[in-house]
Amino acid sequence: MAVSEFSLIKRFFTRPAKNKQTTLSIGDDCALLSVPSAYELAITTDTMVENVHFFPDVNPEDLGHKLLAVNLSDLASMGAKPIAVTLALTLPEVNEQWLQEFSTGLFALADKYQLDLVGGDTTSGPLTLSIQAMGLVKSGQALKRCSAKVGDLIYVTGTLGDAGLGLKVKQGYQMHDSESVLAQFNKPLPKVNEGLQLLNIANACVDISDGLAADLGHILDMSAVGALLNYEQLPVSKQLRHYIEQTQDWEMPLRAGEDYELCFTVPPEKAFELDIQCTCIGVIDKQQGLRLNKQEQIVDFKTLGFDHFKEI
Ligand code: ADP
Ligand code: MG
Repeated sequence: MAVSEFSLIKRFFTRPAKNKQTTLSIGDDCALLSVPSAYELAITTDTMVENVHFFPDVNPEDLGHKLLAVNLSDLASMGAKPIAVTLALTLPEVNEQWLQEFSTGLFALADKYQLDLVGGDTTSGPLTLSIQAMGLVKSGQALKRCSAKVGDLIYVTGTLGDAGLGLKVKQGYQMHDSESVLAQFNKPLPKVNEGLQLLNIANACVDISDGLAADLGHILDMSAVGALLNYEQLPVSKQLRHYIEQTQDWEMPLRAGEDYELCFTVPPEKAFELDIQCTCIGVIDKQQGLRLNKQEQIVDFKTLGFDHFKEI
């Protein structure tokens, strides 16, 4: 790495460690993290590529936030507590103002969870940003996709489809009151605390990055079960309700991605223990596949053309 890149890392990305698990941070060939006995290290990576995952006119502060948020959302869905991240940056040029804003957005969210940026890599090329996030979860307690049980109730946090509507606004859809849906698209809040609260309550959990039908589909496949969803119970904002009335695009809350809410299943006898903002939207049953109860009619998702196996 060239000297200028080293000073760039020092200037924009090096700060004193805050997390007690960080025993060695930026500066050596590797960072060192201690993992307390009886805990497992949960690890995830997500990459964002310009023109694929974000628009060239994106606000760099929002981008720093979102890159970290999408990674923390994966930790949240496992019920892991974030401790540290590494950052791989591929930059077409060294733009100090861009780096300043990007790191401000990233650290503002990192500070919420006392997590450290402990290392990374910096290269030159088309703008590509990658974070690897690490978290702790008590051994054997992580919320996996494979353990939903017949009879479990299905829940989601927050509302569905707002980020998708924010994307439509970016693409030219005109509406009043677009601030909150744009915020959901640009600066999603990972449901880290919610994930931690679901430990010992939820049987299975996933975060909604590709859309409710697709992501719940992963739980169903991996748990070898099916589900019946109640369309009228899906939590939607007044903006999304208005959009659906205007466009008849009623599949938005099922299809739209990037909400980064959690979808999880809970045995009915534990439902009273839930103490987070969430909505019951259906039930796990043994008939495989996903079905939708809409206006008292039951339709199979396959006949709606849903296919959750995406190319990438
Ligand atoms: P090496 O060549 O040994 O891989 P580098 O010269 O790439 O090391 O990096 C020097 C130090 O700076 C390392 O500790 C590395 O983890 C850290 N680093 C490099 N790029 C970044 C980045 N974008 N964010 C945070 N730390 C970084
Ligand atoms: Mg390196």
